[in-house]
Amino acid sequence: MNVNFRAIPSVDALLKVSSAQAAAERFGRTETTRAARDVLEREREAVRAGSPPRDAETLGALLLSDLEASGKSSLRPVYNLTGTVLHTNLGRALLAETAIEAVVEAMRSAAALEFDLDTGKRGERDDHLRALICELTEAEDATLVNNNAAAVLLTLNTLAGHGGGAIVSRGELIEIGGAFRMPDIMARAGARLIEVGTTNRTHEKDYKAALESDGVALLLKVHTSNYRIEGFTKEVEAPVLSRLARAAGVSLVNDLGSGTLVDLTRWGLRREPTVREAVSEGADLVTFSGDKLLGGPQAGFIVGRKDLIAAINRNPMKRALRVDKLRLTALEATLRLYRDPDRLAERLPTLRLLARRHDEIAALARALQGRVAAALGPAFEVEVADCASQIGSGALPLDTLASAGLAIRPLDGSGTALERLASALRALPIPVIGRIAEGTLVLDLRCLEDADAFASNLGGLGNGLA
Ligand SMILES: *Cc1c(COP(=O)(O)O)cnc(C)c1O
Repeated sequence: MNVNFRAIPSVDALLKVSSAQAAAERFGRTETTRAARDVLEREREAVRAGSPPRDAETLGALLLSDLEASGKSSLRPVYNLTGTVLHTNLGRALLAETAIEAVVEAMRSAAALEFDLDTGKRGERDDHLRALICELTEAEDATLVNNNAAAVLLTLNTLAGHGGGAIVSRGELIEIGGAFRMPDIMARAGARLIEVGTTNRTHEKDYKAALESDGVALLLKVHTSNYRIEGFTKEVEAPVLSRLARAAGVSLVNDLGSGTLVDLTRWGLRREPTVREAVSEGADLVTFSGDKLLGGPQAGFIVGRKDLIAAINRNPMKRALRVDKLRLTALEATLRLYRDPDRLAERLPTLRLLARRHDEIAALARALQGRVAAALGPAFEVEVADCASQIGSGALPLDTLASAGLAIRPLDGSGTALERLASALRALPIPVIGRIAEGTLVLDLRCLEDADAFASNLGGLGNGLA
């Protein structure tokens, strides 16, 4: 076979063409040289397989587009049009503007993170938020860790880490998703799981009997946030558990999960137990997330009895699970918004999106319908449709929120056309993530606030779908 390798440019020759020069300017010499070697390696393989060799200009353009593609971050902003407001895979809560501004400032400068400005001595990082959290939850004391999974792990380890018994109802041995399964967390925390009751029914007498066994350290109540058992069921309420725990001299821990700070019914949402209620019902410690209904950054809260929080803070694991100044800053700004409940829905994106009314979302869908149809071209039909959003992240799992959006169907009815559309939308400068069901791609517009930016982003489809 007569293979014409000599027509392939050298690395040096390739680096001299204008697009390669432009690439070196943007991405640096080292990256550009590496990309040039990759392009030439692929070119040699193609020529070996029988393709005609291409000139240096063509290969230079290839090199530049390679670098542009690899320079795009995969951790990019996206449009969350899935209908799930607190979507774990899409980063959960969006931060309030005041929190964003505070974080930007904190990133740029040193901060009095563990420094007491009054005395000039060392301070504690929890001090900045302790008073605010206690004010909002009526708990005695509080501490913060990386996320709620860490809060549960650290709490169990502190109270029952040396094989202490931890009593949990079989109806509350939850899996949150990913690797968070209560029995596994227990084992890793060094606690000994004592299961009581059955999947659907657990009685006070079951807890009482378990409290008779040796070495019980705590009673754990877990808010079954991501599922609901209905029908012939029985669970023991926290005030009763608190009484039992107190009588037996053990602690009651309540893992609330989402842990809202306000009564959500005010905004037309279903009631979810508040942290303040869990505290007042007699839990010694309550754990909850920062980035679920609370609407802040990822974090885990542990609130409750002062002596127990002090013990948690002495646990060496605390150091491994602590939060940094950026998240503390964002949390503080987020929590401050709760002091003014009247304007909370305006300022806190999570609540604003959850409380958004169907007619407002439907009007947005009608306004966008024509522009979206024009951007997708004649192969697709775009209709305004009602749909149902979810809160997400395990909050109120069976509740849906009446919403509206755009239902997109390929006119040829094929699944491949639909997949092609979904993939083209994911390839946009700001990827658009919808939900496919029954041959339709649904874009739930509950979480879309800037319609113009959305429409101009669709310009990136070009003629790709024609
Ligand atoms: C979500 C949740 C967790 C885990 O919280 P993260 O903040 O995601 O780590 C733990 N327990 C319950 C009940 C939850 O709902």
